[in-house]
Amino acid sequence: MESDMNGSLADLLHEQLRDLHDAEVQYCRLLPRMIEMSTFGALRDFLISTDQQTHENLGTLEQVCSLRGISPSGVHCEAMEGLIREARRSPGFTVDSATLDAAIIANAQRIAHYEIAGFGTASAFARCLNSNKASSLLARLADEAGARDQALTKIALGGWFEPGVNQEAASPANSH
Ligand code: FE
Repeated sequence: MESDMNGSLADLLHEQLRDLHDAEVQYCRLLPRMIEMSTFGALRDFLISTDQQTHENLGTLEQVCSLRGISPSGVHCEAMEGLIREARRSPGFTVDSATLDAAIIANAQRIAHYEIAGFGTASAFARCLNSNKASSLLARLADEAGARDQALTKIALGGWFEPGVNQEAASPANSH
């Protein structure tokens, strides 16, 4: 365990690390369903790699907890529970696959933003506590969540030569 003198900030960091670990456990349970519901090829490929990264994130968070000398269990992430509850509602609002793909992207981006905030804040706390190895591991998780957010924007908006999911969902064939 890396030592520090600031007990209260350390307690806050540990609570947040446990919350993040639980959040990632919950996301691992949702991802197979998101993969199954998605139809757009690039989105499905993205979700498959997100599933793999999220499982790897658990290992990284366990490594960070071990550096801090704490167990990763014991906190339930209410925010992720809410994000997942909303994500599970999406199929009820959509009648076509392109719109469902757009909804999946919206849900995955909300989760990526939660991850960016959570990992980034925990990294900053760890740095203040001179827990530099933990801080850099958490910063990497925040960067990877940022990259997933950007990849989702690209899938939604498309590029010069291919339409994105949003455009597919808005096409006349999908209008009601
Ligand atoms: Fe949380």
